[in-house]
Amino acid sequence: MPTNNDGVMIILSSPSGAGKTTLVNLLSKLENFEVSISHTTRQPRTNEQPDKDYYFVTEEKFKRLINNEEFLEYAKVFNNFYGSTRTPVIDKLNKGKNVLFDIDWQGADQIKNKKLDYKLITFFILPPSKEILFERLSNREMKDKLIVDERMRQFSRDVLHWINYDYVVINDDLKKCYTRILNLIKAEMNNGSKDYDPNYIRKHVEKLTF
Ligand code: ADP
Ligand code: 5GP
Repeated sequence: MPTNNDGVMIILSSPSGAGKTTLVNLLSKLENFEVSISHTTRQPRTNEQPDKDYYFVTEEKFKRLINNEEFLEYAKVFNNFYGSTRTPVIDKLNKGKNVLFDIDWQGADQIKNKKLDYKLITFFILPPSKEILFERLSNREMKDKLIVDERMRQFSRDVLHWINYDYVVINDDLKKCYTRILNLIKAEMNNGSKDYDPNYIRKHVEKLTF
């Protein structure tokens, strides 16, 4: 039975390469914050550790988890399946841990629609510009041009989902972006005042989608 001592669910979504994984990893270092480790059928990147960054599984295993209704949410993203299993999340929340999700808009919608009895705060992360996004993707993907092109093409579709999130934050300087998110989380938890300007965000989205 959920209580006031339960943790909070915090979702970070973004177009690929905007920096949500980096931000989730930073936030997870805070006391009482833990990451929901997703399952995925995609191949690990060279710098990724199995069972820490993701549970890397076969499509067969993933489908078994779907059939056993073990997912709180799951989605197909870039031809691979990704999902968050329910039990570890609920266990953490019941122990008072705040749970961070690095998931796409489809997963965020599913969790929102479940209307669980836990507080939910959703963030959408945007890059400062498309040029900078391209640079970040190129660095991360080790110049795998096909992946970079695919993710840049997807950008204009992904960015449209910003409207469904509680807060949209621009990841220009990493430290500043992290602090902005943390202040908003603290304000939400303590019913404090929020330093947030929706008009500025709307203008930034217009620039990105022009
Ligand atoms: P996402 O999870 O949104 O796809 P990542 O967190 O993997 O994005 O970030 C994409 C790349 O950009 C990574 O190489 C990361 O180190 C880098 N990066 C993230 N935030 C910043 C920032 N504020 N300034 C410069 N580089 C960044
Ligand atoms: P990547 O392959 O770059 O790690 O992730 C690709 C996309 O899948 C990102 O938008 C990421 O947030 C999303 N993703 C990662 N894990 C999950 C998950 O468990 N569920 C959903 N719905 N999306 C996820």
